[in-house]
Amino acid sequence: MFKKTKPLIIANWKMNPETEQEAKTIASDIKEGIKNIKGINTVICPPVIFIDSVKKTLGKTILLGAQDAFVGNGSSHTGEISLEMIKKTGAKYILVGHSERRETEDTEEEIREKVSGVLKSGLKAVLCIGENERSEHGDYYHEVKIQIISALTGLQKKYTKNLVIAYEPVWAIGNKDNTALNSESLYEMAIFIKKILNDIFGQEIAKNIPILYGGSVNKNNAKELMENGKVNGLLIGRESLKVQNFIEIIKKIKA
Ligand code: PEP
Repeated sequence: MFKKTKPLIIANWKMNPETEQEAKTIASDIKEGIKNIKGINTVICPPVIFIDSVKKTLGKTILLGAQDAFVGNGSSHTGEISLEMIKKTGAKYILVGHSERRETEDTEEEIREKVSGVLKSGLKAVLCIGENERSEHGDYYHEVKIQIISALTGLQKKYTKNLVIAYEPVWAIGNKDNTALNSESLYEMAIFIKKILNDIFGQEIAKNIPILYGGSVNKNNAKELMENGKVNGLLIGRESLKVQNFIEIIKKIKA
């Protein structure tokens, strides 16, 4: 059911840092810190205005992603940035339906359109899902199931090879006590997600769709979450901007 893959570590910089110079410095320090580590796919998703300069700083070893994209026709969309524009920057990944966007911007329908638009454009879609709360009754399983079904219904199997699922329980994202999900519960959720993917696309496809975990990942829990949670990678927010911590996370995963 779980295929072992090269770990995929995605840094979500959100609306940070404040300047292009800082973005370049962070990127360059990360590049230097992990230059001898092989066998891990690292992706950085900076604010879109920094993608170009971060890409120039990183060269080819670390890939780039965007935190969102506009999927639709025409150019009369003030404030939006199209998939094609993002593609031209050289970014390869797009986060779709991050909980911070679900809260204020993206509806389930828009998320479905974005996933399908991103995949059809040949870019990788990182579909973010996750429950708001963990109640005792296990309702969160239902919440996660609805999100997956809603985002992936109707997606043709041929587009699934660039699909990544990032399971991010909302309560664990940016958690001020830095509380991540424990790896046992993560494993249970990973099995559940695989089962839903299995029901939608069949076993052959489901087993190849990577599942990442995100939510208060840090240097102390990263390896344990990956190994015992049996996920294919991590989506990291705050700690991805703390260069030394981020480098240490990658080193620990590799060790
Ligand atoms: C995120 O924003 O996707 C995230 C996981 O944030 P953090 O690692 O800070 O909890």
